[in-house]
Amino acid sequence: MAILTKKFDVVVVGAGGSGLRAALQLSEAGLSVAVLTKVFPTRSHTVAAQGGIGASLGNMAEDNWHYHFYDTVKGSDWLGDQDAIEFMCREAPKVVYELEHFGMPFDRNPDGTIYQRPFGGHSANYGEKPVPRACAAADRTGHALLHTLYQRNVRANTQFFVEWMALDLLRDEEGDVLGVTALEMETGEVMNLQAKITLFATGGAGRIFAASTNAFINTGDGLGMAARAGIPLEDMEFWQFHPTGVAGAGVLITEGVRGEGGILRNCNGERFMERYAPTLKDLAPRDFVSRSMDQEIKEGRGCGPNKDHVMLDVTHIGKETIMKRLPSIFEIAKKFANVDASKEMIPVVPTIHYQMGGIPTNVHGQVVVPADPSNAMESGNKVVKGFYAVGECSCVSVHGANRLGTNSLLDLVVFGRAAGNHIVEAIKSFPVDHKVLPKDAADKTLARLNRFQSNTSGENAQDVADAIRATMQQHAAVFRTQDTLNKGVTEIMKVAQRVNNIQVKDPSKVFNTALVEALEVDNLIEVAKATMVSAAARTECRGAHAVYDYEHGADHPDFPLGRNDKEWMKHTLWYAEGNRLDYKPVNLKPLTVDTVPPKPRTF
Ligand SMILES: Cc1cc2nc3c(=O)[nH]c(=O)nc-3n(C[C@H](O)[C@H](O)[C@H](O)COP(=O)(O)OP(=O)(O)OC[C@H]3O[C@@H](n4cnc5c(N)ncnc54)[C@H](O)[C@@H]3O)c2cc1C
Repeated sequence: MAILTKKFDVVVVGAGGSGLRAALQLSEAGLSVAVLTKVFPTRSHTVAAQGGIGASLGNMAEDNWHYHFYDTVKGSDWLGDQDAIEFMCREAPKVVYELEHFGMPFDRNPDGTIYQRPFGGHSANYGEKPVPRACAAADRTGHALLHTLYQRNVRANTQFFVEWMALDLLRDEEGDVLGVTALEMETGEVMNLQAKITLFATGGAGRIFAASTNAFINTGDGLGMAARAGIPLEDMEFWQFHPTGVAGAGVLITEGVRGEGGILRNCNGERFMERYAPTLKDLAPRDFVSRSMDQEIKEGRGCGPNKDHVMLDVTHIGKETIMKRLPSIFEIAKKFANVDASKEMIPVVPTIHYQMGGIPTNVHGQVVVPADPSNAMESGNKVVKGFYAVGECSCVSVHGANRLGTNSLLDLVVFGRAAGNHIVEAIKSFPVDHKVLPKDAADKTLARLNRFQSNTSGENAQDVADAIRATMQQHAAVFRTQDTLNKGVTEIMKVAQRVNNIQVKDPSKVFNTALVEALEVDNLIEVAKATMVSAAARTECRGAHAVYDYEHGADHPDFPLGRNDKEWMKHTLWYAEGNRLDYKPVNLKPLTVDTVPPKPRTF
């Protein structure tokens, strides 16, 4: 069936911080840019970011990008690529000052410089003590950032397609990416949006878990689309549990609370992080803090009638500071935990927050795959022509096995900007005309839509989505065991069968939210499979991937923390086709400085 085609220089899918930062470079360079988004741009999940954006400005204590680089490598448990990490940390001050000049309303110090607070894993002098590096706009930094970037895009005449959902990648026989198929939700019409370059900025997929700090729209659509188009997903076993989700609600309490002096306590009132991380204490990286909390709960020192959470204490920092630096947290504590944070402690529990893995890219945002798929460990990367990815959906990889707080907002603007610049240059050497779109380019999308609506019996998308979430929650938690992971693979494959059987009973065209939900489940399941299969294969502990069986290095006496660099210092690549895994090496070579050699992680 022929469908309408619209043509642009660049199609950007996603209007969060990364998509908008890239789109700004493109529009300002005079390219025709379409930005697609499922929701109004300023409702993208970036708006929910609270604590800050990391940059070694050194406004409040001595700091420089070398320390930031070291902290990020160590935070990543040596799985991050050191060239990309150097690139990001060096660019950080520049992109933050640029945001300031765009009008982003940062908090200020008395001398007029940008206010910075300490954050988990960020230290001075290579791990010596916490350093204030998170540039903050109260506890609404993402809100300030996203609105600033949106306004700049309006000024640059970026064309927005709001409430449009991208459905599948368009590729030709040579494998070049030629755009996307997309659904206009208001009319139910499906179109080809053809482009010389397609950039994915679709954000994370935290909604594969039942308890999550993520927005409901974070269903991993970009990852699903890439996986279905034959592109592998990198490092999908690594999911960050944020230490402080409100117990029972999942809503996030920023790490900035601990940056401002907040303390975690167990049922005895003990500041237990002093035992686990004597130097950084409550400001150790998130994987470390989440596991310590889990340990306290498992050993019976949890709080509440079920002893299933711990307490976050800010009662000692004073109401004035709370209202000035953490006003939203005060509100969240009241609304979701019914406590007055200036007088009572907030019940918190580790909650799924961020995916470290994603679509593999280089520092220019270009999507890369192994040059020789039969020898990925040695062949190096090859660029997928016409395809870029930035932000949480991508894996460049700066976060490795564990992201440091504030490094995501930073990643969005550094790589959004870098990808924008690279595309502006690349497009100059493109022919004036677009490549020919194969006649059957949209067939897979149409078959998918047809499947939902022609199934005359079957399940609700919602029930299948719930099954995915329950399976992930049960089998890929803070602490994993080899047995739960192996069973998780079997279970998620069973749920995948059910996805084929989803029926959309509502035939309407206009704002058919049941159809949108069913289309999202097609993406959730790819991300869930990638996560389970990659996690079951990695027989070690690294960063956020903590498996009891290897925790104390039982099988690896050389690696007391369970990390096995000899066999596992490599990235996983998961292919949807055949549910296949492959691996590629970690880049331990930075751009200009010396490598940070692997060592055991203590804080
Ligand atoms: C509660 C919370 C607090 C956080 N706090 C911080 C913090 O203080 N500091 C920090 O560094 N990080 C923080 N993070 C992480 C950080 O905010 C996110 O990683 C980041 O904002 C993701 O940005 P993004 O541009 O990749 O995607 P998002 O902002 O998630 O935007 C994704 C965009 O893609 C669009 N989209 C998705 N699928 C489709 C589709 N199929 N078709 C069309 N459009 C689509 C959406 O509509 C949206 O516009 C926080 C995260 C959360 C959840």
